[in-house]
Amino acid sequence: MRSERTARALRTGLAAVVLALGAAPARGDGPVPLSVTAVRSWSAPTNTRVVFDFSQVVTAVMPDSGSGSRIVISVPEAGIVPGAGVPPTLAVRDSVVDSVSTAFDARGARFTIVFMPGASFHAFTVQPAQDKPFRIVVDVVRTAAQVEEARRLADIAAAKRRDRVRLVYIDPGHGGDDTGARGIGGVQEKNVTLAVAQDLAAGLNKVPGLRALLTRDADYFVPLRQRYRIAEQAHADLFVSVHCNSSHRRGSGNGTEVFFLSLKGASDQADKDLADVENAADLVGGVPPQAEDDVVNVLYDVKRNSALERSQLLAETLLDHVAADRRVESRGIKQAGFAVLKSVEFPSVLVETAFINNPREVKLLRDPEFQRELGQQLTSGVLAYFSATGVRIGAAPDTARTPAGASGAVVH
Ligand SMILES: [Zn+2]
Repeated sequence: MRSERTARALRTGLAAVVLALGAAPARGDGPVPLSVTAVRSWSAPTNTRVVFDFSQVVTAVMPDSGSGSRIVISVPEAGIVPGAGVPPTLAVRDSVVDSVSTAFDARGARFTIVFMPGASFHAFTVQPAQDKPFRIVVDVVRTAAQVEEARRLADIAAAKRRDRVRLVYIDPGHGGDDTGARGIGGVQEKNVTLAVAQDLAAGLNKVPGLRALLTRDADYFVPLRQRYRIAEQAHADLFVSVHCNSSHRRGSGNGTEVFFLSLKGASDQADKDLADVENAADLVGGVPPQAEDDVVNVLYDVKRNSALERSQLLAETLLDHVAADRRVESRGIKQAGFAVLKSVEFPSVLVETAFINNPREVKLLRDPEFQRELGQQLTSGVLAYFSATGVRIGAAPDTARTPAGASGAVVH
């Protein structure tokens, strides 16, 4: 079946990226000292991720998952040492994790993560990818927080129905360990995408009849499929993923392009390469191994085709409004197999705003004024999209052609 083929092609594509990227880190000529090079933690609303970086691939002895008050991880590698800046104890003290401690002796290294009450965990290793080393990753989850999060999303869906507003989910690309592309002057894609997404949300939230929310509002990693699932749970009407391009990935480097999902492959090889790199976010950020979904039926096909048609229209209207600015050239709308655009529940697009390693465009991307203007242009694009699909947003009650209710929002 088509979607099976797509899934297989995607897996093959990702495997190719891993192999290519895995070969990248140079080992040098001399023996590489075996060390733990960093211990970090990232706090998300429902979970905390603890990451241990290693100079080489190591063997880890640890449970895959469980619950309780702590996890102990052993790395039985003689001669392993802590790198500079690896503390004996890392105080996390958020609502999920209390602390992380490290201990080294002749037999190897031992790490203990102490949890807050009510936590459970998944532990896994991540092979070297892009500029990331071999890692042990522990995702610690507070079950109560997950329940609260599901309730929060259900409440958003209920409020949306009650207030008769349209809901736009904005997805700031990358986050946490997954920095995205690196630009001139050390600018990281994950920070630019969050700033632009926040400005876009602020712009949309000024419009009566619209509500905008983010898939992440701080610096932490969210797996690709979880990004659109958050939006699905909240019953979003649109999904806009925000990214920055980089000419390390593309031949020449300037301009804006807007992508929607392709089921048959990318518009050209360069677009396929870009999708492969963006899809590698899960490999860079690290997700536990899991099975692919096999949701295929007739209803699914109908919904998917409708979502695709509308995604194309959304891509066109967003690009029109950004390109009108003229400071950033239009590269057109494109199609490729982006994993984050796979929902059939709403139209979704991925905006490659500009090139983070183009000297002129990176200046724009890091300029708060430009970020705000880009947010306004995308807001105008979203309004134009709704208008083109016959949805009236934000008409004042006295000019409304249909009863608007007290909120002033008119949504057909
Ligand atoms: Zn990106």
